[in-house]
Amino acid sequence: MENCLFCKIIKGEIPSAKVYEDEDMLIFKDIAPQAPIHLLLVPKKHYANVIEMSEEDAYVLARCIKKLSTMTEELGLSEGFRLVSNKGANGCQSVDHLHIHILGGEKLSDKMA
Ligand code: 5GP
Ligand code: ZN
Repeated sequence: MENCLFCKIIKGEIPSAKVYEDEDMLIFKDIAPQAPIHLLLVPKKHYANVIEMSEEDAYVLARCIKKLSTMTEELGLSEGFRLVSNKGANGCQSVDHLHIHILGGEKLSDKMA
């Protein structure tokens, strides 16, 4: 997608602090962290959100999350973490390329909204 911020980050047209990359996904640091560790897991294929996700996209995303589960120690998340994906106006989604927030590095609030 031409004007998608995360597609530009994936293509390297906009710099980011990458922590992991493979053929399916990129994981990089959120520019405005809301926890001591705040990463964004972004599938390389563009689709806006879970509603637009195809069956194949869902399979790839599950593979990405499984891969993430093998990296928790090196990412500083061995004590736990929270995964969040915002959708639409009520979800306060601001970038229309599906992404999973990975939050951790301390005990997070027990309130999620
Ligand atoms: P959303 O609000 O769509 O759920 O999440 C978008 C996230 O992207 C926000 O947490 C925001 O801080 C992050 N973000 C916005 N622009 C940039 C950027 O240019 N670089 C990085 N690394 N993160 C960004
Ligand atoms: Zn995109």
